[in-house]
Amino acid sequence: MSRARVVIVGGGFAGLRALYRLRSLGDRVDITLVDPRSTSLARPSLPEVAFAAKPVEHARFPLAHAVTRSGARFVQRGVDHVRVTEHQVVLDNDETLPYDFLLLALGARKAYDDVVGFSSHGYSLCDDEQAPRLAQALDDFTGGPIVIGAAKSVWGTRVEVPHLAAPCEGPVAEIMFMLDHELRRRGMRERSSIRVFSPGRIFFEDVGPTVHADIEPLVTQHGIEVSTGKVLDHLDDGSVTFEDGTTWESALSIVLPPYRGSDVVARSPRLGDERDFIPTDTTMRHLDAASVYAAGDATSLSMPKLGHIAVLQADIAAAALRQDLTGEGDVPEWRPEVFCIANRGGDQAILIYSNTLFGGDVDLTLDGASAHLMKWGFDGYYFHTAGHLPPDLATDGLEMALRVAHTGPGHGST
Ligand SMILES: Cc1cc2nc3c(=O)[nH]c(=O)nc-3n(C[C@H](O)[C@H](O)[C@H](O)COP(=O)(O)OP(=O)(O)OC[C@H]3O[C@@H](n4cnc5c(N)ncnc54)[C@H](O)[C@@H]3O)c2cc1C
Repeated sequence: MSRARVVIVGGGFAGLRALYRLRSLGDRVDITLVDPRSTSLARPSLPEVAFAAKPVEHARFPLAHAVTRSGARFVQRGVDHVRVTEHQVVLDNDETLPYDFLLLALGARKAYDDVVGFSSHGYSLCDDEQAPRLAQALDDFTGGPIVIGAAKSVWGTRVEVPHLAAPCEGPVAEIMFMLDHELRRRGMRERSSIRVFSPGRIFFEDVGPTVHADIEPLVTQHGIEVSTGKVLDHLDDGSVTFEDGTTWESALSIVLPPYRGSDVVARSPRLGDERDFIPTDTTMRHLDAASVYAAGDATSLSMPKLGHIAVLQADIAAAALRQDLTGEGDVPEWRPEVFCIANRGGDQAILIYSNTLFGGDVDLTLDGASAHLMKWGFDGYYFHTAGHLPPDLATDGLEMALRVAHTGPGHGST
């Protein structure tokens, strides 16, 4: 029997998770993973690069070794486009890779260029160029008003999902708390104000009332001002202007750019929705192409854009693909949830676990040193195992413990 050719595009959270799930198929598949980068980038570690002097090398690890020791082939090239009807991936050197099954884990494009004035007056931390640039800007900063926020993103309509104004505001929370901590540590907080804007009707649209009630006092306690319904228009030297015509003074403007789907999708006929995200059903199979799966930020279904959701989707896609190939195994149900830990500076962090956006009843936080320890453990595990996550038993146990701990009166579960 000939081996099935599986091509995975992208070696981030979703691509590596899918690879690690599929490798148990052994000789039954030939897996190739394609990525133009030599390293996989763990974006959740980037705030520590910007604000806690973590070397950028600690946010990335070599891809080639991680892929080849899993028995797959690594091709370090960018994909230019996909010929869906011919079952071919076309690389940026015009070579083609034929596939029986394709798994697209391309991530989202961070559209810095969509923010007028960003290149001259804006800072960010969504990749390993921007985070060290922000760290340098902070080193040069001598005080003044700081403005932080997410630009508005627009989504396609082929898949029914909550249309959030920002892809995920967890990094905004991390920036504001870590910056507050860092400015205090440097003795500069008195000379600096922190104002946060959100394009949404409420800050943190993707979580429920209990999480909001837990976060709001922290925001006040740290002297941070948050305004909602503020859609970024442009950045200037010394100011940030919004679509409503208001302008805020700013000596340091930190922006999460709008997210768009990948250029690969834009260049591939019939692959994307109106915003170049990949429309799938809840088994992560492309709505119009049975041999194409997708997972992670690249998909229309991932909302908010979170590593946790990328991993849930990669598990589903890998299980569905396994079923296609072998007829074996069950495909996990699509049960989206927000699960993330935001550093708050020093040894403090806040864990957020909520599924109210999707009609669920879990909505809780865990704040303090124990949440920080969990994030430290999770990030370290991911880095040192080249993209593996702690065993399911550990994460399932943690989720269960959190639910039980928060069911008492006055605690998290709504
Ligand atoms: C600052 C920040 C902090 C965050 N913190 C958290 C957090 O604490 N918890 C959490 O759950 N989520 C967090 N997230 C979100 C999380 O990082 C993303 O949801 C996650 O990285 C998505 O994984 P992915 O595999 O879909 O995409 P990515 O991680 O973006 O990986 C995509 C891969 O595709 C590759 N690729 C792109 N174009 C091509 C091409 N043309 N050809 C081949 N390969 C290509 C890229 O090189 C990359 O390796 C954070 C995000 C940011 C920006």
